[in-house]
Amino acid sequence: MKTKEALLTVDGETVLVQRKSIKNMYLRVDPSGLLRVSAPRFVSDTAVKDFVRRRAGWIEKVRTRAEEKAQLPVRTFSAADRRAFRAKCAAALERWQPLVGRRCSGFSVRDMKTRWGSCNTKTGHLNFNLKLLDMPPECLDYVVVHELCHLWVPGHNPLFWSRVERVYPDYKRVRKLLRQ
Ligand SMILES: [Zn+2]
Repeated sequence: MKTKEALLTVDGETVLVQRKSIKNMYLRVDPSGLLRVSAPRFVSDTAVKDFVRRRAGWIEKVRTRAEEKAQLPVRTFSAADRRAFRAKCAAALERWQPLVGRRCSGFSVRDMKTRWGSCNTKTGHLNFNLKLLDMPPECLDYVVVHELCHLWVPGHNPLFWSRVERVYPDYKRVRKLLRQ
């Protein structure tokens, strides 16, 4: 069966309602701020309106959070930043490669959204996130050790972590810093 779409107005606010073969109602605020409700086919407009009204506090919270996020200044990296960071990575690699017992084939510095570093275990090429430039120096050390250890063990199993710990015993504390 096809999804049926309809627009409803709840307290002056437009809500896009999609009725489909589901059991419960769901509400989300899409990135443009539009409210979208997914509802079972049998649910009445009145029930949808009540559902949206009951969640007014939550909607407000989601929107405030989105606004705050939009106002955060975006960090951009200049060519000088990139050069400085490349030099730091090169120095960290020189320091840690002998201790880990593996060498990378090369590395890139990139402004990555979700990861601090990555390792191509086939080619031995590593990537490091430019955002590490704004973090305490031990963060880069830890990420370098972490990615180099992937040249021994690709995944994150206990064997991998024991390799990391042998070279960088304080890794748990630094990992916490990076997760904040
Ligand atoms: Zn990893």
